[in-house]
Amino acid sequence: MMTTLSKAPAIHPPPDQFESVMDIARRPPLTFVSGQGSWLTDAEGRTYLDFVQGWAVNCLGHSPTLLADALAAQARRLINCSPAFYNEPMVRLSSRLARASGLHHVFLANSGAEANEGAIKLARKFGARQRNGAFEIITMEHGFHGRTLATMSASGKSGWEQLFEPKVPGFVKVPLNDLAAIEAAITPRTVAVMLEPIQGEAGVFEADLPFLRGLRALTRERGILLILDEIQTGIGRTGSLFCFEHAGTTPDIMTLGKGLGGGVPLAALLAHRDASSFEHGDQGGTFNGNPLMAAAGLAVIDEIMKPGFLARVAEAGDYLTRSLQALARRHGAGAIRGRGLLLALDLKRNIAARAVDLARARGLLINGPRPDTIRFMPSLTVTNEEIDRMCVILDSVLADLTLA
Ligand SMILES: *Cc1c(COP(=O)(O)O)cnc(C)c1O
Repeated sequence: MMTTLSKAPAIHPPPDQFESVMDIARRPPLTFVSGQGSWLTDAEGRTYLDFVQGWAVNCLGHSPTLLADALAAQARRLINCSPAFYNEPMVRLSSRLARASGLHHVFLANSGAEANEGAIKLARKFGARQRNGAFEIITMEHGFHGRTLATMSASGKSGWEQLFEPKVPGFVKVPLNDLAAIEAAITPRTVAVMLEPIQGEAGVFEADLPFLRGLRALTRERGILLILDEIQTGIGRTGSLFCFEHAGTTPDIMTLGKGLGGGVPLAALLAHRDASSFEHGDQGGTFNGNPLMAAAGLAVIDEIMKPGFLARVAEAGDYLTRSLQALARRHGAGAIRGRGLLLALDLKRNIAARAVDLARARGLLINGPRPDTIRFMPSLTVTNEEIDRMCVILDSVLADLTLA
């Protein structure tokens, strides 16, 4: 018996070590054990420069002290008192987000998809009360809003059309940046237009600023709601607190997630008072607005709204853009898309999956949202030295793939 207990741990764990983890994605056989800033460490002690950061989630990098401290302090004070009561972090975070966005009411949620479900419900409520039962929401081709049934139905991700039929009805798809197509799609059944200011999962495609301004004017004129999904673009990712600020217009409803919790599960549904029509019982959930996650959100917001923080994000975004442009020129790649620290490199060849694998073998984590595109979502606190290091590794990866 003692011999089995004292057996040394396998250096290369057998593949069946992962057997109980539901196999929902192709994962490399690595187990991560710790992280700090832009760096992750696996169970074998190898370190990786992380330009994925939990999918644009860890906006302050891995395990930032201020977030760990906020969580520890709140955990000792109060973890959960039920959503049937107010709690301090819930109230403070809601008022911070309301003030910063110009929207009036905030519902804290646990995931982006859940916040978007709330946005869809709010829009339908608006239709029931103010537009004779209208319920249709116009969404964008290639858009991404989550993986619940309604948010999959709202998404325009290719390959999803045939999945999990029957879909939730009531979503009409139009091409991004085509105001005329939206105008043509509006009927008496329409309640809202819903979109991402930058389509992240699709491969980083921006809604043009004139299009966003035109859409704001059009939705106002037709009396329908504008819903912005800022789950990936919000909380400083594009160099302003919210991406809609670049267009100089405000939505009626907005959703936040990802960066809001700095790595912990926290999302939010925000609504202008005129669009905020839930009655008691319409919306809720066991963990909504729990003090532990709300305390994390407060710590993140406090840090991101410090003077100079967002200016530095914009600066790092410019530096990363220029570095990627130089790299693209050297390797015959195409344009850099995106804004701030949500950027993509068009490789012009379908080598993204191989680039991601080879980069990981060389200690760099990047993401390939399309066969021909690499996406960069580093910590908002990434340094120019880390950007330089990333480019050195990516340079060697692209050199080897181009020659191969
Ligand atoms: C990630 C994402 C979602 C879904 O958020 P989850 O927390 O994964 O449910 C929705 N919309 C956008 C734009 C996203 O990037």
